[in-house]
Amino acid sequence: MRVLVISDIHGNLQALEAVIAAAGSFDALWNLGDMVGYGANPNEIIERMRALATINVRGNHDRVCSGLTSSEGFNPVAAEAAAWTNRHLSKENLAWLRDVPQGPIEAGKRAMCAHGSPLHEDHYIVTMRDAWLPLQRMGAEITFFGHTHVQGGFSQRAEDWEEEQPVYHQPGAPEQFTISVAVGSRHLVNPGSVGQPRDIDWRAAFAIYDEDAEKVTFYRVPYDVEAAQKAIRNAQLPERLAARLTQGR
Ligand code: ZN
Repeated sequence: MRVLVISDIHGNLQALEAVIAAAGSFDALWNLGDMVGYGANPNEIIERMRALATINVRGNHDRVCSGLTSSEGFNPVAAEAAAWTNRHLSKENLAWLRDVPQGPIEAGKRAMCAHGSPLHEDHYIVTMRDAWLPLQRMGAEITFFGHTHVQGGFSQRAEDWEEEQPVYHQPGAPEQFTISVAVGSRHLVNPGSVGQPRDIDWRAAFAIYDEDAEKVTFYRVPYDVEAAQKAIRNAQLPERLAARLTQGR
């Protein structure tokens, strides 16, 4: 089974379309949440996920944008974008978004999907120190997660552990980086953010999980970032949300 794993689309249609075009054929699509909030095309993103995703996990922005919880704790820019998204979602898409389940959700033969940590949907896994406890406690060998908008993984086999940061050489071109997720080892894998990367690389991020080959390949693909910025400005969303897309942070 070849799975397209994506996270943190954040309403960026141009980035999502580039990812789907670059992914080629896939047997399943696992969406790790934060599909809306920040970007200007929340309805189009939800419609794509309703049609294509086999698993959807809710993110904190999906929860706030759909009105399930308040934006208390969000910074003012995120709160303004969440209110804008809530006003612009169609009735049907809003109702669908409210029903997206909380992670972790079982996925395939030996994986789970979560938004933040498999132990708590709002926890950030940034360092190996954050990853260690979830690696011990998660109920599957592999958890795909998002939330940090940083592509990469953390793995463990017995007492050995490793941070797996993809290494790229050609900014501006499509690139890929493969890691092994062999049976008997445990992995937390973040495909990166489709629509608002924060690892100083503006290219849209995603991953392909090859369940039979026990491999994950990370990808970065350029997309029409100017069009995404223009859409944000036309929607009169905060300028910072447009500017940060080219900075990749
Ligand atoms: Zn996010």
